[in-house]
Amino acid sequence: MKASQFFISTLKEAPADAEIVSHKLMMRAGFIKKLGAGLYNYMPMGLRTIRKVEAIIRDELNKAGAIELVMPVVQPAELWQETGRFDKMGEELLRFKDRHERDFVMQPTAEEVVTDIARQELRSYRQLPKNFYQIQTKFRDERRPRFGVMRGREFTMKDAYSFDRDVEAAGKSYDAMYAAYTRIFQRLGLQFRAVAADTGAIGGDRSHEFQVIADTGEDAIIYCPTGDYAANIELAEALPLIAQRGAAAEALEKVATPGKSTCADVAELLGLPLDRTVKSLVLATDETNDKGEILKSTVWLLLVRGDHDLNEVKASKVEGLKVGFRFATEKEIVEHFGTKPGYLGPVKTAKPLKVVADRTVANMADFVVGANEEGFHIRGVNWGRDLPEPDLVADIRNVVEGDPSPDGKGVLAIQRGIEVGHVFYLGTKYSKAMNATFLDVDGKPKHFEMGCYGIGVTRILGAAIEQKYDERGIIWPDAIAPFEVVICPVGYDRSEDVKAVADKLYADLGAQGVDVILDDRGERPGAMFADWELIGVPHRVVLGDKGLKEGLAEYQGRQDKEATKVAVGDIAAHVL
Ligand code: ATP
Ligand code: MG
Ligand code: MG
Ligand code: MG
Repeated sequence: MKASQFFISTLKEAPADAEIVSHKLMMRAGFIKKLGAGLYNYMPMGLRTIRKVEAIIRDELNKAGAIELVMPVVQPAELWQETGRFDKMGEELLRFKDRHERDFVMQPTAEEVVTDIARQELRSYRQLPKNFYQIQTKFRDERRPRFGVMRGREFTMKDAYSFDRDVEAAGKSYDAMYAAYTRIFQRLGLQFRAVAADTGAIGGDRSHEFQVIADTGEDAIIYCPTGDYAANIELAEALPLIAQRGAAAEALEKVATPGKSTCADVAELLGLPLDRTVKSLVLATDETNDKGEILKSTVWLLLVRGDHDLNEVKASKVEGLKVGFRFATEKEIVEHFGTKPGYLGPVKTAKPLKVVADRTVANMADFVVGANEEGFHIRGVNWGRDLPEPDLVADIRNVVEGDPSPDGKGVLAIQRGIEVGHVFYLGTKYSKAMNATFLDVDGKPKHFEMGCYGIGVTRILGAAIEQKYDERGIIWPDAIAPFEVVICPVGYDRSEDVKAVADKLYADLGAQGVDVILDDRGERPGAMFADWELIGVPHRVVLGDKGLKEGLAEYQGRQDKEATKVAVGDIAAHVL
């Protein structure tokens, strides 16, 4: 590729709405261009990296026996009604009507459509196992699209779906995907950790998230550095954070706004439907005696992934809270959230309230929602407001550091992570809802055992940058850099020698399969170097009249402090 024939558009300053470094750098380096909230143009430079990520994913999935297809972005509502998700799924599901007043959705995921394909096409156990995947546009009307492609509304996801005869075979499909994901993220050059994730309403223990380790991650991972234990903190049992508040209840009372609400009101107030809202639970209770004197105050925090039925949460999840962790103090809670938790007021019961609220790990303190047998209570509600994010990692580490790991192999530590992939055993949830069966060896119809497996293709770009950058710009892993090598001739438009050597080197590298770009724009060296450092090309070769007199070029790796002189003839060997 010659720069003059390509499209390069770099900015000195990042737009004001770019909060984190990957977003800023992707905008500045011309990888993406904003169209609207959570909507981005993938510009030519960015698309090259996306295509490389896709190629690695495709290669490993094909090797693992998955089969590629593509399902429509626009999907008829009927299928979503069959599983109940048309009504139950939150506002993340974009619904609309066509000219005939028929309901449709923009696919946020494709379990329904792929199960519909399977029930028509996979009739016999002889056709199993099958794993269908697509790399396709997804739309989720995220409540808070942010961080550029990291949490977009429209984004590219690889989603795969496995169909098996029985639980055992489904386990093998799951393991194969887990292994493929491990290879994919290794090849992408990312530092990652696979962590156990909450399985939500589906149950079972077969769900793992692949988390790229980065301080700006929206998730927190709890793990044992000397053992195997690793879990997403959203995992219900992973982080019960329980505070003994004692006298601080009074202070909290002052900041709280009294209110009372039903379950439906809660959902309406949150602007989200019930089944998808439950991400975390915050609970404050006082145990009082008959005179109304407070005997004991407790603030509970429980993080739960979405997909839970509220009743289920009320019934079971709260019970699971106390497992394995010590209580946090009021001071720790306040420090942890950077603000005081809301307060539900005295409750005449020793039983804890069952509490439901939608919060993410990062900013759950701005309201508290609670419920007991009488209904739901809300106090201290002030969302809409964007709170500064507390340093979750540091603060939670204070709380749990040194606590024993559930695997008994050491103590727990916490890191922040970015969820780039998710493997999930689904069982027969969708095949039963949609009556998707095959004829088993005994001639009887049986529901498919299913699994689903997602990778956030476009999110990977942000995650890779969060993991590696410097003051000059992006540092891409070689495997996904938009170009591997840039040739920067100084005086390309002036010196015949420089032009001749640059053109030849460009042709030679290209012939050897190196993904090379020749910067023939005739830019000043400073501006030219700054562009490529910002864009993050891993290898740079500078050619100038002076060096060429001795047959030398200057080579500099993106992370090298200085350039090294290399004979022009040896450049190929140097970068390969
Ligand atoms: P999150 O917890 O970040 O909202 P999720 O658990 O809802 O993600 P999944 O349903 O597991 O996401 O989808 C599979 C993958 O798609 C995720 O692991 C993530 O990498 C990616 N992904 C999900 N939502 C987005 C988004 N809004 N923008 C970009 N990528 C996303
Ligand atoms: Mg989500
Ligand atoms: Mg998630
Ligand atoms: Mg997920």
